[in-house]
Amino acid sequence: MTMKASPQWDDEVDLLVIGAGAAGMATALVATLQGLNVRLVEKSAQVGGTAATSAGTLWIPGNRQGIAAGYHDCVEDGRRYLRELAKYSEKADLRLRSDGRGPVLEADDPLGLLLTSHHTIVTADLPRAARLYTEILEGEPIATSVDPVTGAQSTYIRLADTLLEFVTPVADTALWARVAQGEDYYLGLTYLVNDTQAVGAHLDSVGVQYDTGRDGEVIIPPAAGFGVQWRFVQSLPYPAQARQLPAF
Ligand SMILES: Cc1cc2nc3c(=O)[nH]c(=O)nc-3n(C[C@H](O)[C@H](O)[C@H](O)COP(=O)(O)OP(=O)(O)OC[C@H]3O[C@@H](n4cnc5c(N)ncnc54)[C@H](O)[C@@H]3O)c2cc1C
Repeated sequence: MTMKASPQWDDEVDLLVIGAGAAGMATALVATLQGLNVRLVEKSAQVGGTAATSAGTLWIPGNRQGIAAGYHDCVEDGRRYLRELAKYSEKADLRLRSDGRGPVLEADDPLGLLLTSHHTIVTADLPRAARLYTEILEGEPIATSVDPVTGAQSTYIRLADTLLEFVTPVADTALWARVAQGEDYYLGLTYLVNDTQAVGAHLDSVGVQYDTGRDGEVIIPPAAGFGVQWRFVQSLPYPAQARQLPAF
């Protein structure tokens, strides 16, 4: 094995934080605000760690700001969630273990995940739902499409490194009934994969229920996926260059 030459440096700091993920960045920020001389080092080309490619939200069970804002939440709820997640994950995805390790994307990843394509939100009122993302958060609409079977319309909006699909269903369909009262809902998450048949074969081998949609896409229905839909597709439903991440 050849070792890459490391740059030489010699520095003395109060706190050396290794890794600019959510935890490292928060630690570095708080320590700096406390007056320490902090150095934050990151081995990859971008900061953010997993949060840079996730939905960007963190659940910190029982945090005092949430409780002060009137949300019922406690550490035991968080533990219960993790216990249930570990049970499901061991069955569904061998990369996850009950000791909390993973997931790590490896070359032999049984799902062949390439990237998180987009999150899907269903709404009866696209202008209102999209306004927050485009006008206020300055997201960019990148594509629209119409589902030839259901007639539902999709608008794809990129917000930093997250892509959101807003689906407006046709009136008087089951999907419409979910949002007709004016409340949007989060339908689920779509991944781009190498081979949807391999995903199906893996889910078969671990006993996870799924449906096969148009173009062979694999869809784990909400009932089998913690109440949200998990979808695996072989091609992106918007121009591929829109998925290139903006520079941080
Ligand atoms: C699709 C998705 C959705 C998610 N949704 C949620 C959610 O809704 N709620 C929630 O609470 N969590 C969610 N998560 C999980 C959450 O994003 C992660 O738990 C969290 O971001 C982990 O942060 P971290 O700082 O602990 O670790 P990481 O993000 O893994 O950061 C570690 C950093 O350290 C760097 N590093 C590693 N080794 C070295 C080294 N030797 N030298 C220098 N740097 C190094 C890495 O490159 C990385 O940048 C989601 C994750 C995904 C993928």
